[in-house]
Amino acid sequence: MTTVETTHHQMRIGGRDVDTAGKISIIDPSDGSVVATVPDGDASHVDDAVAAAKAAYESGVWSAKTPHERAAIMRAIVGAAREAADELIELEQAANGATIRQATGFHIGYALAHFEYFAGLAETYEWERAAPVSDFPALSQSVVHREPIGVVGAISPFNFPLLLTLWKVGPALAAGNSVVVKPDERTPLSMLAFARIAERNGLPPGVLNVVTGPGRVAGARLAEHPHVGKIGFTGSTSVGREIMRLASGTVKQVTLELGGKGPSIVLDDADLDMAVDGVLFGCFVYSGQICVSGTRALVPRRLHDEFVRRLVERAKTIVLGNTRDFDTDMGPVIDGKQQARILDHIRRAEVDGATVELGGSRPGGEQFERGFWVSPTILSGVTNDMPIAREEVFGPVLVVIAYDDDDEAVAIANDSDYGLAASIWSTDNGRALAIADRIQSGSVWINDAHQINCQVPFGGYKQSGIGRELGPDALDGYTEAKTVQVDLSTGLKAKPFGILLGHAE
Ligand code: NAD
Repeated sequence: MTTVETTHHQMRIGGRDVDTAGKISIIDPSDGSVVATVPDGDASHVDDAVAAAKAAYESGVWSAKTPHERAAIMRAIVGAAREAADELIELEQAANGATIRQATGFHIGYALAHFEYFAGLAETYEWERAAPVSDFPALSQSVVHREPIGVVGAISPFNFPLLLTLWKVGPALAAGNSVVVKPDERTPLSMLAFARIAERNGLPPGVLNVVTGPGRVAGARLAEHPHVGKIGFTGSTSVGREIMRLASGTVKQVTLELGGKGPSIVLDDADLDMAVDGVLFGCFVYSGQICVSGTRALVPRRLHDEFVRRLVERAKTIVLGNTRDFDTDMGPVIDGKQQARILDHIRRAEVDGATVELGGSRPGGEQFERGFWVSPTILSGVTNDMPIAREEVFGPVLVVIAYDDDDEAVAIANDSDYGLAASIWSTDNGRALAIADRIQSGSVWINDAHQINCQVPFGGYKQSGIGRELGPDALDGYTEAKTVQVDLSTGLKAKPFGILLGHAE
């Protein structure tokens, strides 16, 4: 099935290819084959990358360019990346198992469009803001400047390797920072290719560095490095806690995009055809490996049996198969460890009293014996206190939970450690909006799911994260605010120095 030849992709540090004796194998999750290798980078490579990024930053080769100059180069990079889109799509799906439809439209299509959005932000961002003339505490005029932080670290997960990395690299570069990226060790290929495209299209060497290597070694060093001023991290909540701990040593800024356990709330006036398809789309796209997946379907008790029956009928039509075939709907999960973990979650849910309405195992058939496959799985008889309803499974597992009235639906939706995204399905926008007001979640979609719009902020409540990515203020997280005040008072007598020195004669 695999069309990428087994090639070796070196790291990119200071505009140079860098290799190591040890190699990490990149596995195609759809068949378990080795598609590529990358260097097994360690703390010393992170140190080299941070030094290169710091030197580039201090030279002004990028940081001293005007925002318009940076935007122009970023747009040239997007143009070249679009021409290389087929290569980027293949590198992405070869490592993370996305289907070709999804990799084309979502993983790479969004990644490049969002990078272009950040280029535009460089031009519209309020780099300087004059505050009103003030007479207190002194007659003065202040100007607030936004300045780059310096060296920024980006640590990203396996599921949207390019998109979620560019959510950090895009605003960081737009603001004039230099960046060190530590991609997930299973899925670094598309970002390595993007970094090379960027350098060939005007990004000076050392401004964007990519270190491949294990999270606990390379990622941890980046998070604690004294010359890194900010870490943008997307990944699991448990690693997010560790990033905070490591970053606290030098009081770094952090943006954390973490896990989720999204509710899909079906109201009793929902368009059921739309809700059934929407709930399935919300949960099963990319095999449920999306932080904003709607993994808990909350359904009115009186509609429960009919809704489950319709979900099962529709989910049976989801086609698993060759991820490079445009007719395939759903691919594998990322690796064998995750496959075993998902199947174990399902077994434990059964022991807890859940009923497997569909799936629950590896799909039958010879083509699914290699690779890491899990059938779309629907569980009924689930209550919100069960681990299957509380823990992030990160696989194609939908649980259906019955509720009695809107208040109970809201209570169940909010009874979670997470608060990243929620869907509400209703034909009454007013009613749905009123419920949206009560949901503790960074995003709420009414009659939709997975609507990642780069023009609005994205992030989580509670243990789903800290800070927001995307939106018109995305550069705030990659800049420092500096207030410069000019005294306008008329000489020494007007000054408050007397607080210390008494009245001047
Ligand atoms: P993960 O937390 O295992 O790994 C994420 C990154 O952290 C990888 O690059 C990894 O190498 C690195 N890492 C691991 N241990 C580290 C350490 N001790 N120090 C520094 N870096 C370390 O996550 P994953 O399995 O790749 O991705 C799945 C998780 O990501 C899910 O929990 C999912 O919800 C979350 N996610 C969140 C969002 C969001 O925007 N909120 C988006 C996508 C994924």
